[in-house]
Order: sequence, then C-alpha cells, then structure tokens
Amino acid sequence: MEYQQIIESIYQTIQPYAKEGQQATYIPELAKVDPDQFGMCIHTIYGETAAIEKADTRFSIQSISKVFSLAICLSIKGDELWTRIGKEPSGTAFNSLLHLELEKGKPRNPFLNSGAIVMADILLSELANPEEDFLRFVRAVAGNDTIDYNREVAASERENGYLNAAIANLLKYHNNIDNDIESVLKFYFLMCSVEMSCRELSLAFLAFANHRRKFDYADIQLTSSQVKRINAIMQTCGFYDEAGEFSYLVGLPGKSGVGGGIVAIYPLLYSVAVWSPRLNAKGNSVMGLKALELFTSETKESIF
Ligand code: GLN
Repeated sequence: MEYQQIIESIYQTIQPYAKEGQQATYIPELAKVDPDQFGMCIHTIYGETAAIEKADTRFSIQSISKVFSLAICLSIKGDELWTRIGKEPSGTAFNSLLHLELEKGKPRNPFLNSGAIVMADILLSELANPEEDFLRFVRAVAGNDTIDYNREVAASERENGYLNAAIANLLKYHNNIDNDIESVLKFYFLMCSVEMSCRELSLAFLAFANHRRKFDYADIQLTSSQVKRINAIMQTCGFYDEAGEFSYLVGLPGKSGVGGGIVAIYPLLYSVAVWSPRLNAKGNSVMGLKALELFTSETKESIF
C-alpha cells in the first residue's frame, strides 16, 4: 500500500479545514501552542512507515495517556479493575460528572477523566515509584528513552483543574479513591502532560495493534485477550460523546486527547497517529478526525 502517497494527498484535501476549531485554552500552557500545525505518521506491523509534516514534533498527549494507564492497571489488577470502573460508553464529555453522581462514584469507563482519576489512585497504591514507573513503561512501549513529562503543563492544569477536583471529591466521597485527593490529581495531571510525537505514538500503539506479539514492557505484561479488550474499549469509549461518530466515520479503535492528538489502530495491520491542535466542540482534533476519515476511506481497509 502506498501509504506515503495517500497521506500526502489527504493533507492537501483537508486544507479547507485548517482554520476550523480552537486549541484547548482551559489548560493555560496549552494555549501557548501554535494551533496551525499538523503531523501524521503510520507504522505497519510489517515495518512499513510513512510520515508527513510535523510527525516528529512532540505535543501534550493528554487523554491518550489513559490507554497507558489502563494497560498498567489491567496488568496489575486483572478483572478486579472492573469492580471500581465500568466499561460502558458514556455518551458524555470527558470531564462529565453526570453519571458519577447517579452511579455512586463508579466511573462508566477508564477513558473518562473520572475513570482515569481512579486509575491514578490505583497506580499510586500499586507502583513502587509511580512517576518513574509510569514513564519507564511509556518509554519502553515507544522504544524511546527521551520521552518525558512536561511539568509546566501539569502544574498549569492543576492550578485550573476545578472540574477534575470536583470529580476527585465525588469519587472520594463514594470511597473509590484510597489516597489523598491532592496526590491523586497531581499524578493524573502529570500522566496527561507526557509529550510524544506522532511517530513515537504510532510506534507505541503497534503494541496494541499487534495482539499476537508478546506484550511485555518494563515489567508490564498483558495477555493477548487483555490487549484485544483494551482495543475494544478504545472502539467504544475512545472519543467520549463522539465515539459513535468516530466509529461511523473512521471505523477504528482509537484515543484522542485535548492536545490535538489522535491515535488509532487497525488490529494486526497498522497504528496511525495524527496531531493538529484545533479542536471541535467535543474536544477532538478537527484536522485529525478528517485525516483519519479519509485515510480509512482511501486505503479501503476496514475492520467491518
Ligand atoms: N488533562 C485533561 C483533562 O483532565 C485531559 C482531557 C482530554 O485530553 N480529553 O481535562
């Protein structure tokens, strides 16, 4: 498949959308990023790769980090994880409190902020050195030791994270957080602040695309079934209240973040990452969504 040619032509086709949407400003540090950037990179499990534009520029992965947290939590807790977090799509925004009150502090799924805050609590309790161990895992799965947190972004979000603080308080009230709220939120924001490029993300997600290869990175092991199940949750919950739309238009399991990144996988074939900071009203990258929609249309490869 001529992936390079395909993504170059897609980049031309999506130019009319270049100024649509706005970058996230509720995290003041993210408002400083130049919104008019775009990168895309694909890796196949057979070693083919294609990349365009800012594929090597690092950006804030934000909620994409929730896939890494889920991998670690599932490897440590196994199915017991589902006693504290559900695995149903929510149809609500990433930072919603709606179901959390009705469902007595059990987040609908691990990719909502509420679910990821519970995972941050689990990781704080279970990992010997949470900050180091999380980063060690991300570096191992991406095969790159220079990947790091951006502590300014984390601090900037913490100073303005009123909604996430409300979520954490509600979780604590319902006994779904063991550690103190301040440490849990601090660690949650830190995980969101990891910076990676499209090339690094697509390489990292090959580990999820290829569930037949042994998943064993920095002492985190998953079975083939566990990897497939993480992909199932990406399919149903990866885009919050736009998960149905993403399934309909793109048709792949994936995960987005408010830094403007989206990563999607085609099981047993490829992993693709795209980045552009301007977001739609649901917090997903406008150019990123368009590029992936065209990518799965033009390659005519589909999991359906
Ligand atoms: N850190 C962000 C938040 O908690 C992550 C949200 C996202 O990327 N969708 O609001």
